[in-house]
Amino acid sequence: MERTLSAGDIQFGYAKRYFEEFISSRPKIREALNKVETPAILMDLEGIKARYVQIRYHLPEVNVYYAVKANDHIDVLRALAEVGSGFEVASSGELEKVLSLKVPPERVISSNPVKPEEFIDFAYRSGVNRFAVDSFTEVEKIARVAPRSRVYVRVTVPNEGSDWPLSRKFGVDPETALDILEFAKEKGLVPVGITFHVGSQCNNLRNWFIAVRDSSYLWERARSRGLRLMVLNMGGGIPVRYLYESLRVEDVAYYVKGLLRKYFSVPPYELQIEPGRGIVGDQGVLVTRVIGKAKRGEENWVYLDTGVFNGLAETLGGIRYPMFLEREGDLKEWVVGGVSCDSLDVIARNIYLPEPEVGDRVYILSAGAYTSVYASEFNGFPKPKVICL
Ligand SMILES: *Cc1c(COP(=O)(O)O)cnc(C)c1O
Repeated sequence: MERTLSAGDIQFGYAKRYFEEFISSRPKIREALNKVETPAILMDLEGIKARYVQIRYHLPEVNVYYAVKANDHIDVLRALAEVGSGFEVASSGELEKVLSLKVPPERVISSNPVKPEEFIDFAYRSGVNRFAVDSFTEVEKIARVAPRSRVYVRVTVPNEGSDWPLSRKFGVDPETALDILEFAKEKGLVPVGITFHVGSQCNNLRNWFIAVRDSSYLWERARSRGLRLMVLNMGGGIPVRYLYESLRVEDVAYYVKGLLRKYFSVPPYELQIEPGRGIVGDQGVLVTRVIGKAKRGEENWVYLDTGVFNGLAETLGGIRYPMFLEREGDLKEWVVGGVSCDSLDVIARNIYLPEPEVGDRVYILSAGAYTSVYASEFNGFPKPKVICL
């Protein structure tokens, strides 16, 4: 007789297959899983390099600037520097780390449209001279602190279907973008291009479609106003798998290449992307430990030694991580609580796991991006240690 699959079988089966696939090609991580002190994030440096190479392979005409904020561990940055990646930084702290690896400043850009003046100053003195802008104020600031720098303007594009939308905070409409570029020129800066961000974890190809199409219109209008643009920066947004499959790098790349062919009859002099999540997101596993269990009304609660304040902040925005536990037996539905006393500290609901015991290790997959960098020591609990293997 055929057995129908329950929601739990599907969810836990997916997590199990993902876990097994992840460790099967990563013997060093497999070995460390049961040894490391929890909580710890194990990062696969070879996997990160492979991701970079894969993106380059599928987008050979596009320069890659890794968005450091996704995971700024020095070993991660070193691995990427070794394979020739560029870097996108937003702060002096990030820039110092990148420069400490002897990365030439020409391989560094800064695409956060609103930057502290001291950072612009430090970047400029370090040899970084490419900055994003999306306001007249920012242009004035850069003109004052970093004269003759190259600037590219951030335009608003739809962020629908991205799990971590960014567009409401940054970006301007095409008309204002042109005015800002012209203003930059008047101020002695070099207006070089356009940037957009389709939203992080973008599983909606339509966002790229609108973004590239509208950029091409803006490009032409800039030309007719005497501005010769050189750079199209396509931001981040490449997704990774979480508790559902996502578009793959090659899917996004194939589609974006088509759009560029269609909308830019003369390709921009330099094409750029700034993936963060897409390079490191699925190259790390967070190893945690069960610290408690409780039945609350109808709900089964399991508590881990990490939480939304110690690395899993993105769960608050809706990211659902696959979780795996090495036990057999019937699956139950769990609410997964974090380690702190705060009631906001709930990692996930509707997670199917076999009955865990206190002390069991729970493996949280796809924990390589926006985890360690967000972690605090709220309530005195340690941040997960990042271990690069
Ligand atoms: C955060 C950020 C990125 C990286 O985004 P991902 O979705 O992680 O790829 C790229 N560019 C800018 C300007 C960003 O702020």
